Amino acid sequence: MGRLLGMATRMGSFHEITVARREWLTPGMVRLSFTGEDLSGFRSTGIGDEYVRLFFPDPVTGERVLPEIDAEGRWTFPAEPERVRYSTYTVRHFDVEARELHIDFVVHEGGMASEWAIAAQPGMSVVINSPRGLYAPPNGLSWQVLLADATGLPAVGRLLAQTPAHVASHIVVELGSEAHAQSLPYHPLAEVTWIFGRGNGVAPSALDHALPSIPLGAGVGYLWAGAEQKAARRIRNLARRMPAFGEGRQKVVAYWSA
Ligand SMILES: Cc1cc2nc3c(=O)[nH]c(=O)nc-3n(C[C@H](O)[C@H](O)[C@H](O)COP(=O)(O)OP(=O)(O)OC[C@H]3O[C@@H](n4cnc5c(N)ncnc54)[C@H](O)[C@@H]3O)c2cc1C
Repeated sequence: MGRLLGMATRMGSFHEITVARREWLTPGMVRLSFTGEDLSGFRSTGIGDEYVRLFFPDPVTGERVLPEIDAEGRWTFPAEPERVRYSTYTVRHFDVEARELHIDFVVHEGGMASEWAIAAQPGMSVVINSPRGLYAPPNGLSWQVLLADATGLPAVGRLLAQTPAHVASHIVVELGSEAHAQSLPYHPLAEVTWIFGRGNGVAPSALDHALPSIPLGAGVGYLWAGAEQKAARRIRNLARRMPAFGEGRQKVVAYWSA
């Protein structure tokens, strides 16, 4: 590991993980499988969209600066916060017994994390913090709508894999082109619509246009979305006017900013 600053006293909040394998899922997404002793102390929330921060070393000095995290989870940055180099990613898969954790990276121009993932080789390490999940459906859920661009696809995959058999899912995934499509876990009550050539930095997102045409189920529903910031804002504004997605029935998250 490079030189670590700012964390040593509370390593419990952080875990050093090491690349074991790299696999191209599509031309636009690379999966890194991580392993490491520290994963025995990694406490998954079990929530399908749980995410971690990946802390990267300075490419020139090798110095890795971490924030201080207090008992309430509040972060304190050093005087020069830009020295804390991090990005947010979904835990696509975690196996505590095997001490293995998968993260799927969208490959894009100019990203610190994206470039690191493209160049990653077995043995390279990164530090992650403790995970947090946002998906919080109401009790008695009977149907859900999941909307995502490529960055939200790893979460959709895990959410769907963890969806109870009786819950129906309407899923809309927007990708830059058909080449970026990948198979999702099978669920007997899931319907998946793919939109190609929109969002993802190639064209304006169409996820908000898709929402009103999705047939809403009977009973308790929930909307989850993970997409680019402007797309997420439009989805949120639209969903707020839909009675099915009232208080506590939606979680729309900005995953990146174009
Ligand atoms: C809760 C949460 C979970 C997430 N999970 C995942 C995940 O599992 N997989 C994943 O790939 N991303 C995920 N993201 C999104 C990811 O954090 C951002 O894409 C992030 O900006 C990537 O960091 P970077 O260092 O590569 O690029 P940055 O240094 O943040 O950005 C550099 C440039 O790249 C552009 N950019 C950033 N992301 C994209 C993109 N996807 N497409 C095109 N241009 C882009 C920015 O506009 C900027 O101009 C998640 C985000 C959140 C909030």
